[in-house]
Amino acid sequence: MDLGIKGRRAIVCASSKGLGRACAMALANEGVHVTLTARGAEALKKTADEIRKAHPTVTVTEVAGDITTPAGREAALKACPDPDILINNAGGPPPGDFRNWTRDDWIKAIDANMLTPIELIKATVDGMMARKFGRIVNITSAAVKAPIEILGLSNGARAGLTGFIAGLSRKTVIANVTINGLLPGPFVTDRLTGTAKPEAEKRGITIDQVLAERAKLNPAGRFGDPEEFGYACAFLCGAKAGRFVQLVRRAKHVEDGREAKVEDIVENEDIDAHGNNDTKNDVLANTSLGRVSLESSEQLPTLNTQERFTC
Ligand code: NAP
Repeated sequence: MDLGIKGRRAIVCASSKGLGRACAMALANEGVHVTLTARGAEALKKTADEIRKAHPTVTVTEVAGDITTPAGREAALKACPDPDILINNAGGPPPGDFRNWTRDDWIKAIDANMLTPIELIKATVDGMMARKFGRIVNITSAAVKAPIEILGLSNGARAGLTGFIAGLSRKTVIANVTINGLLPGPFVTDRLTGTAKPEAEKRGITIDQVLAERAKLNPAGRFGDPEEFGYACAFLCGAKAGRFVQLVRRAKHVEDGREAKVEDIVENEDIDAHGNNDTKNDVLANTSLGRVSLESSEQLPTLNTQERFTC
């Protein structure tokens, strides 16, 4: 499928590894020129070179820096001042017990996983609206809908972003600018391994054992491959995805035990003239391994236990 975004420009934050890298690769695959960011210059260059090699016709720009700082954001925006596509991403907050978290820990999590995306949206959304095209995807976490006890910093900061976006996205879609959240379930990345470590230490077993147990709980019997996440992201950035906004998804396709397909993604209800949609029928981008859901709702429904194994 040609997503109709060849020649568009994207900023893909935190993209030297993992989910961000996969999004950058999938967008480049569609002919999108990509600006990549990460703190570590070496891994960033490696990824940029891999994308250049795989997609020689696209321009790949690397910006080494911390996207959660004003300087990091400024550098990314200087390299790509008028992006058509913005993929917001940053490392996730550490797990832990809220009794040990200080105000600084909370501010750091909110800065990285709520205020940084908002700042980047603030810097780019008006230009997108003026040009009548924009696709913004916030990589958050399934924890937004199925909070995970040890990831309280993540639950809180990302839910805050989701609530904010729920309001803003209703105002931008009129100008063909969509803002959506992609809520990954478990995907095989460094982050996944990192979240398994405390449990492995607590139970005196290996990280691999923890991961194997968790993978078995997934209806697919395995974790997601970041490449699949990248495809879901590229789809949301497509020219024909101009009404994908403000969507809620539940895991019904997973619970049905069937593999979700692209048709599942378009099962959303129409947004009415006021930008509202009836969320009874939900939307799913399930990549058949890890779950990916689209979310920007103010609702945080209680989910069943089957849905709570994600990281
Ligand atoms: P990952 O494999 O650890 O990759 C993180 C990437 O982000 C790296 O390229 C890293 O490079 C970059 N990065 C981290 N902090 C940064 C910063 N402050 N500024 C610029 N770049 C930064 O992680 P991932 O699994 O792809 O996770 C991406 C996001 O999805 C995280 O917020 C994570 O919590 C969330 N998530 C992941 C999963 C999963 O199963 N993987 C599930 C739910 C949610 P540098 O370290 O060099 O900066």
